[in-house]
Amino acid sequence: MINVHDIPVTELHGIGRAKAAAYASLGVHTVGDLLYMFPRAYENRGDIVTLACSREDIKNAVVLTVATEPRISLVKNRMSLLKLRAFDDSAACEITYFNQNYLKDKFHIGDTVRFWGKVEKHGQKYQMSSPVAEPYNEAFPPPSLVPVYRLTDGLSQKIIASHMADALRFCDDIEDCIPQDILEKNDLCSLSQALRAIHAPSDYSSLARAKRRLVFNEMFMFALGTCMSSHASDKLRAYACKKTDLSPMLSMLPYKLTSAQSKAIEDIQNDMSKPTPMGRIIIGDVGCGKTVCAAAAMYNAVKNHRQAALMAPTEILATQHYKELSPLFEKLGIKCELLVGSLTPAQKRRVHMSISSEGDDRADVVIGTQALLSDGVKFSRAGIVITDEQHRFGVGQRALLSERNDHPHVLVMSATPIPRSLALVMYGDLKVSRINEMPAGRQRVDTFLVDESYRARLDAFIQKNVSEGGQVYVVCPSVEEKDNSDDEILLCEIDDINDAPKKKTTAPLKAAVEYAETLSERMKNVRVACVHGRMSSHDKDEVMREFVDGRIDVLVSTTVIEVGVNVPNTCLMIIENAERFGLSQLHQLRGRVGRGSRRSYCVLVAGTASTSELGDTAKQRLETLCRSYDGFEIAEKDLKLRGPGDFISSVTDNAIRQSGDLGFKLADINADADMLAKVFDDARALVGEDSSLSNYPLLAAELSHTFMTRADVIN
Ligand code: ADP
Ligand code: MG
Repeated sequence: MINVHDIPVTELHGIGRAKAAAYASLGVHTVGDLLYMFPRAYENRGDIVTLACSREDIKNAVVLTVATEPRISLVKNRMSLLKLRAFDDSAACEITYFNQNYLKDKFHIGDTVRFWGKVEKHGQKYQMSSPVAEPYNEAFPPPSLVPVYRLTDGLSQKIIASHMADALRFCDDIEDCIPQDILEKNDLCSLSQALRAIHAPSDYSSLARAKRRLVFNEMFMFALGTCMSSHASDKLRAYACKKTDLSPMLSMLPYKLTSAQSKAIEDIQNDMSKPTPMGRIIIGDVGCGKTVCAAAAMYNAVKNHRQAALMAPTEILATQHYKELSPLFEKLGIKCELLVGSLTPAQKRRVHMSISSEGDDRADVVIGTQALLSDGVKFSRAGIVITDEQHRFGVGQRALLSERNDHPHVLVMSATPIPRSLALVMYGDLKVSRINEMPAGRQRVDTFLVDESYRARLDAFIQKNVSEGGQVYVVCPSVEEKDNSDDEILLCEIDDINDAPKKKTTAPLKAAVEYAETLSERMKNVRVACVHGRMSSHDKDEVMREFVDGRIDVLVSTTVIEVGVNVPNTCLMIIENAERFGLSQLHQLRGRVGRGSRRSYCVLVAGTASTSELGDTAKQRLETLCRSYDGFEIAEKDLKLRGPGDFISSVTDNAIRQSGDLGFKLADINADADMLAKVFDDARALVGEDSSLSNYPLLAAELSHTFMTRADVIN
């Protein structure tokens, strides 16, 4: 038996240094990496249409008989043009290729050929330019589903396909890491079958089966990792922090804790007083005051002569925490450092030193981004590690931070209220503290549902708020209208594979980029900017910073706007095509306004001419939001309206990213939620029976491979 993760791609036919470098840029180093580089979609060349029934907007597969020998002519700029005619029962078609004279010998009168490409119609005349041509034999047709991979310079679909075909020969030697009884119980095919079928499917049902197996793998590794780490942490030793009197810190706050905050802090101090590492998550709506709970936990650690780290998902959030907490800590004689990617190498070195120091210059509290995970960071006496906004970090990242620093206490904060049942699945290894109470005197964000007829008044309302010095968020569901000029017109995206192909339709949405442009044209005096998911994080940060600094009045965005960013000056949140969003997600978006003293509003704009045209559940969602302000109540309602699958993706603000964070390439915790719950049961049972996986060496190896790869990615 071989391990495909040990075989470099250069072992494959046709991969030398240049191609290996191209693959490396896709994160592919070994044959295993290549086999796990799944297609992003499939071209359905098996869906054969007649020329007359072909569509001009997408690629079509047509089967034609060649009617003329190819003829080559020279055209301008020394280009050559190869032309032939071919026909089916419905029409004849002219086929052309530029500069591909070698194709001349491929076509002969009477040949049956499957052409794949766009069909242009000029009156009664049909034309295809540079279609893919494959000899066609009805009894043995060429594969109908052709994988489409993500590309990079130096690699084309054709090249990857040939390497993949070569890599697939290793499949038969792959031993399945999942125990046989689990495979049988879940009716799953073997790993080698699955890998073969995902790259070279014979039909949709084998593709669906392959995908199911691979999704299971991803989830199983995730669940196993989770169960192993919670099992293991019961045996780990952590520093038992004596319960510290918090009053010196609390007395410096300009407010009194809510009882939910006090309870969470009490839970934390209890956990920290034990000699095993705490694993706890605080869940509570934006603005409920989680930060001060984190601060109390850090204070508790520092007073026990331990260090505390707080990791936020973005530089902007880390900086915000630092600005808020460091004055408080410094007054208490606690040394506080900021560690983010944008520090100069010298600054970073200084902070690293102070983190690892045993002397007086030792940092007590370090606030930062993922920079905290980089190699040079080693706490001399880590007491507690806190991560803010849980769903931006994977379990693997948290585990890494823990392991590097001798298993400190771990606290996680999430602004996404979820029902208890789901917390189990999503945070299987953590105990939960729920903060279901807002600080007193917090204003309500008045919420309204409107339709297109309200547009002019809405514009006026934006102008009014801006002229009074307030700032405005506009959230749109998608970045751009689906771009049909895209080279690949895909009939089947990998996320859509079930049993039958579905064709995607796109309803006209308020695209953020376009929206921002027209808005700024309509309102010359208003400063409008846009952030969306296709921007680099640097550019995003830049725009966010301008918004935070008040140099932008209206920020149009897709849902990527930074979770938790606090801009107290915002007073209006407009959500376009609100019917497209999940209830909990809408609630989270709304939580970004009303954080200062300005009276604040949330306007839900239905994408329909009238709100009465909304679907039933959409209407219920939006009306619930207008009525309720309690995140947990809203989450329960959301769960009822949508079922667990859709619910999870709605609360994760971006299901794709979430799935990626969990190490999922194929699995979608939205669509596969039911499977995830079952998988956890299997994993828990296995760990219960054999907590070190000593009887499952293959599984243990695969697990460490999964986690190691993820650690690589984040460094
Ligand atoms: P989140 O839970 O979203 O992280 P924060 O911790 O940022 O919320 O708190 C939001 C704001 O509420 C902060 O300005 C904080 O100072 C304030 N705050 C926190 N707790 C209380 C409280 N008990 N009473 C009044 N204000 C509070
Ligand atoms: Mg926060």
